[in-house]
Amino acid sequence: MSIHILPEQLASQIAAGEVVERPASVVKELVENALDAEAKTLNIEVRSGGRDLVQVADDGLGIPGDQIETAFLRHATSKLSTADDLAAIQTLGFRGEALAAIAAVSQLTVVSRVDGQQAGVRLTLEGGSLLSREAVGAPVGTVLAVSNLFFNVPARKKFLKSIGTEKRLIDETVTRYALAYPQVRFRLIHDGRITFQTTGSGERRDVLIAIYGSETARQLISIGTNDPNSDPSGARGELSVAGYISPPHLNWSNRSRIAIYVNSRWIKDTRLTYAVVQAYHTLLPNGRYPIALILVTLPPEQVDVNVHPAKTEVRFRRANTVFGAVQRTVRRALIDQAPVPGASHFNSFGASDWPSHGDKQAYPRGELAGHQDESPSSWTRQPEEGLPGIPTGLSEDDRLPISRVIGQVGSAYIITEGPDGLYLIDQHAAHERILYEQFMVDWKAPGGSKNATQGLISGLTVDLSPPQMTLLEEHSDLLRQIGFDIELFGPKTIIVRGVPGLLTNADPAGALLNVLDELETGQKPLEGAIEDRIILRVCKSAAVKAGQSLSLPEMEAMVRQLEACQVPLTCPHGRPTTIHLSVSQLAREFGRR
Ligand code: ADP
Ligand code: MG
Repeated sequence: MSIHILPEQLASQIAAGEVVERPASVVKELVENALDAEAKTLNIEVRSGGRDLVQVADDGLGIPGDQIETAFLRHATSKLSTADDLAAIQTLGFRGEALAAIAAVSQLTVVSRVDGQQAGVRLTLEGGSLLSREAVGAPVGTVLAVSNLFFNVPARKKFLKSIGTEKRLIDETVTRYALAYPQVRFRLIHDGRITFQTTGSGERRDVLIAIYGSETARQLISIGTNDPNSDPSGARGELSVAGYISPPHLNWSNRSRIAIYVNSRWIKDTRLTYAVVQAYHTLLPNGRYPIALILVTLPPEQVDVNVHPAKTEVRFRRANTVFGAVQRTVRRALIDQAPVPGASHFNSFGASDWPSHGDKQAYPRGELAGHQDESPSSWTRQPEEGLPGIPTGLSEDDRLPISRVIGQVGSAYIITEGPDGLYLIDQHAAHERILYEQFMVDWKAPGGSKNATQGLISGLTVDLSPPQMTLLEEHSDLLRQIGFDIELFGPKTIIVRGVPGLLTNADPAGALLNVLDELETGQKPLEGAIEDRIILRVCKSAAVKAGQSLSLPEMEAMVRQLEACQVPLTCPHGRPTTIHLSVSQLAREFGRR
């Protein structure tokens, strides 16, 4: 075949492929256009998962009658004219591709009218060619109906998934925008049935309720500054992070509920997603993930949104700064949730399911009355059907009240009595948490880690295998920082002269071997810093074991220390330390109620 220029229509179809992959991409582009046109109400109507119809009606500014054909040409946009504009995009769209792309692969009708024009215009197009144009009566705004998507691209049509899957992808798309634009009313209709709608109240928590239900939504913790007057475009010049996150006990088996937005644009960003996950480090069991809605605002010139035709990937000018800000904001909110030890535990514990932080202002309690679930006890709470939650029976405010030690069961659990019933404390998990927090305090104190070394009166000789020896040499600096004082003695032998203070009562050689084991499993990039893993291992080795009987004073000391922890209810690996049996739970179990 000789080299030739492709016919316009074929070129458009090929280009369309980058923008319009499936019905959800049509929904996305039409919703973005409506939002850019300052619509306050969006009605999204879908038939057969979008194969038959995707229609978006908005009450935005409309398209002027004399420009409506132009809107369907490739690279036609009203949002951008110079390269400088590109550097500071404030709209969702800017590439001028979507309408041309959608029109190229569907049968399309648009009706639009702008304020001040007598009549609106209705155009029909098929495969990108204009079929008809007429004047019609219409409200101000735009209705775009896309039928028979990919009618002329059978190869694409074959790649569509089941109607159910396409519907789900559309739901995800719509809910994403609804979260970004709480001041806009969204209504989604699948095959004649309203499946999702928001009030446009401007309260993001109302949108969260529409998505997750009131029981879950009311537990979410607001983070950063959710100042409704803050400028969502980031034009004001500072970097800020806001949003909502779930308390650790509300968790899921995948990351799909972590959503990141930059200047109100939903983006895919594995690094920022990781920043969120990392902020939960030691609070969630491995393989469990939170709900998080992270809204990053920064000056538009700090972020390049023109990376991909779908505009869902961005590049940050200062990626590390953004990463750090997200991680710190989430971590801060999680830690703030934990109480100041000793302060007013009795008053607030168990008084309600209500989380104890800034939420109160954002969502006054009175408003909640109507949303309260019938079963305020979290004893049986499962975040999602079929998924194992952590039914610790503890209130989501993550507090441990002052309690009185009653005794020990099975040489493994401490029983205490608190203001509202009984607590069962896993002695090993609790001790791990206590040691971990003590260690971290030392570790963070300037020069503190050195003080943590406890000299051994007579050096301890340990034989190592060649791989263990290599690991030891490779990580000798780190081991020294953590508190191990080690001398090489022979090709296979070392002398341990000092160990981290925490290990004084434990088996130091065993602990060192455990640490080497940990190092040997290799540093998987997503499993946290190597220091952290070593510290966790040291704490694990040093913690009292299940099976060890404890005296009453020992148990009391441990419970006091656990109460003073920042994050008392989970061990550093994310397992629960404590199970609560409330008075009402006991009454229920005994059939007294
Ligand atoms: P882009 O959004 O990148 O500008 P599109 O192809 O999506 O490109 O849209 C082309 C132009 O059509 C927009 O720039 C806008 O002027 C106009 N337009 C599209 N949809 C709407 C709408 N719902 N309301 C008002 N104007 C619209
Ligand atoms: Mg657009």
